[in-house]
Amino acid sequence: MTSPTLILPERSHVIPSDLRAAIGVDKVKDDYSTLTAYAVDASIYRMTPQAIVLVESEEDIAATVRYAVQRGIPLTPRAAGTNLTGSAIGSGIILDVSRLNRILELNREEGWARVQPGIVLAELNKKLARDGLLFGPDPSSGDMCKLGGMLANNSSGPHTLRYGAVKDNVAALRVCVAGCQGIWVRRSELCRSAEGA
Ligand SMILES: Cc1cc2nc3c(=O)[nH]c(=O)nc-3n(C[C@H](O)[C@H](O)[C@H](O)COP(=O)(O)OP(=O)(O)OC[C@H]3O[C@@H](n4cnc5c(N)ncnc54)[C@H](O)[C@@H]3O)c2cc1C
Repeated sequence: MTSPTLILPERSHVIPSDLRAAIGVDKVKDDYSTLTAYAVDASIYRMTPQAIVLVESEEDIAATVRYAVQRGIPLTPRAAGTNLTGSAIGSGIILDVSRLNRILELNREEGWARVQPGIVLAELNKKLARDGLLFGPDPSSGDMCKLGGMLANNSSGPHTLRYGAVKDNVAALRVCVAGCQGIWVRRSELCRSAEGA
């Protein structure tokens, strides 16, 4: 009896090797187990990507976005992968923000914090609690989900009537768009685009 053939997904090594050259060897993964792990999120869907980039800086994000746009490769940001709709899986490059997980600035008097997108909600609130502060939106996935994913989903929870959803608790965003390193979008612009939507 012949043993069954192991069928591995077809993939190109060009994308990961280009990304390694641009961003760094230890930040890009394309081994079989990592691709398999990133092929799923908390949804029912499955899609195997070509490469995972574990970004550590704004420059890494800009370089990844630039490469994906130039080559026309689908790019999917990923935080904790707890969304239920398949929005953190994709066929091209997965841009994982988990290593960007710090509070960069905390203004106790005015009650705001500048945070990176990979910080877990529960971790953020544990740190804020020392100063009697809280980030109010409380999805039930709060022990795992991260601020970047919550933002994209406009997460809410049982205390939304009191504190609002994520959109009501964001003063400014630093965003990366193709062609520039990063731009600030502040509350007034956020309100204008929400009104126009
Ligand atoms: C058990 C469970 C309970 C839940 N309970 C609730 C609930 O009570 N209320 C609620 O609102 N939701 C709930 N959710 C779903 C909720 O939407 C997610 O848990 C959370 O918002 C996603 O966060 P994440 O870090 O896992 O993001 P991911 O799943 O990794 O990503 C979600 C989306 O955000 C995008 N994204 C991630 N990071 C960035 C970034 N830096 N920039 C741009 N886009 C980015 C991704 O591309 C994707 O489209 C629940 C989910 C589970 C599994």
